[in-house]
Amino acid sequence: MKTLLMGPPGAGKGTQAVILAEKLGIPHISTGDMFRKAVKEQTPLGVEAKRYMDSGQLVPDEVTIGIVRERLAEADCVNGFLLDGFPRTVFQAEALDDILTKLGTQLDVALNIDVDSEALIGRITGRRMCRNCGKPYHVTFSPSKVEGRCDVCGGELYQRDDDKEETVRKRLEVYNTQTLPLLDYYQAKGLVINVNGNQPMEKVTEDILAALKK
Ligand code: ADP
Ligand code: ADP
Ligand code: ZN
Repeated sequence: MKTLLMGPPGAGKGTQAVILAEKLGIPHISTGDMFRKAVKEQTPLGVEAKRYMDSGQLVPDEVTIGIVRERLAEADCVNGFLLDGFPRTVFQAEALDDILTKLGTQLDVALNIDVDSEALIGRITGRRMCRNCGKPYHVTFSPSKVEGRCDVCGGELYQRDDDKEETVRKRLEVYNTQTLPLLDYYQAKGLVINVNGNQPMEKVTEDILAALKK
């Protein structure tokens, strides 16, 4: 199952991806998580990516495509993968087609999580993330059992620098101008499945699994 998870910032891609990857036994590949790891480790990639992330801009295509190309060539991707947050531009989507063709495969489905735009700001500004494993929480919709600590690994929960309101508005604008056109790109290939993301997390998961069975 070679799958994309699409949707605006705060739609619930990361939340669903963690659950689905476990249920389906395929790797969760999040470019955002890869960049955050590089930032934390202060690698050259991290230093470059941070400049863009902090201002809510996209990291340049060449850099992003390079890390995805390497990751998809790893052995655990042969039976499928769940791409979260990539592609985000039509250029990246074309590059992905090319990468997969060279690997002798192609995408099966592009899941698009639809969420009303008014709900997104509240979801993102209330998001807290585990510094250690990256699992997302929400102060109201999905609090951890022990305040400030990850349920899974006990790591410290923090607010992402780019989850402050000013940056969030910029990210939503970037999504609308650069990423939204991708839906047409995948619609034309007949790959899009729309999922109603304005529902409790468990219900969204259920709807995705039902759609994938079809
Ligand atoms: P994305 O990866 O698309 O940016 P996340 O999965 O990180 O989104 O979710 C954004 C925030 O919204 C997180 O704090 C998460 O806990 C919360 N969230 C995710 N799905 C839902 C949902 N169905 N209902 C309410 N809150 C949600
Ligand atoms: P969210 O799902 O909440 O929008 P992500 O964790 O996917 O956030 O991405 C965080 C930031 O990392 C983005 O705002 C962008 O700067 C960078 N980034 C992640 N994926 C990509 C990508 N495919 N292309 C360019 N930049 C990316
Ligand atoms: Zn954790």
